[in-house]
Amino acid sequence: MTLVAVSKTAPASRVRAAVAAGLTVLGENRVQEAAGKVPEVPGAIWHLVGPLQSNKARRAVELFDVIESVDSVELAVRLDRLAGEVRPGRPLPVLIQVNVDADAAKAGFAPADAWAAVEAVLALPNLRLDGLMTIGRLATSPEDARATFRELRELGLALRARYPGLGPELSMGMTDDYEVAVEEGATIVRVGRAIFGERPRIADPDAEQR
Ligand SMILES: *Cc1c(COP(=O)(O)O)cnc(C)c1O
Repeated sequence: MTLVAVSKTAPASRVRAAVAAGLTVLGENRVQEAAGKVPEVPGAIWHLVGPLQSNKARRAVELFDVIESVDSVELAVRLDRLAGEVRPGRPLPVLIQVNVDADAAKAGFAPADAWAAVEAVLALPNLRLDGLMTIGRLATSPEDARATFRELRELGLALRARYPGLGPELSMGMTDDYEVAVEEGATIVRVGRAIFGERPRIADPDAEQR
């Protein structure tokens, strides 16, 4: 089980304190914010958990150790090319993001499209496909996310039966629903507010702060 401490909006000083306390795997959802923070926080492993625009892909490959939010084959192809340049001989670990609930507000492949996505990403030599990622349903009770997490696990099992090269990771669960996610088989949880506290309200309308 990997705990990704999602440090978006937390200043570097607080993130350094978290690393000193043993939280060495960190998550950010925006490349620009990470670019300022990563050099200030040595000794950590960084996961990108937010949507990635193609014009920021090179910077993302330079900054992050894992890209959890691969949501198009086009992006995967670009990351593969960049990883070959930026980190030759060291395939970049990625997860495919699945929009289990077909939520228009969320990125990710529809479950039906995940098959072609897995096949395409497995063919890219500079990426290592570690597994799948999803975001739970925003709801009143954590229980409401259980069906989403269960579906991701079942999809992962089905996909691996056909594509054994797909890794076993299931990144699911955040502050409000990580316990349910763990019960449903999460191998990675991404927890922000429960570690760093509530985030300040809206600094940037583009930032997906959920
Ligand atoms: C912000 C964020 C998290 C962490 O959310 P919390 O509710 O603070 O735990 C996890 N995953 C993604 C994709 C995020 O954007």
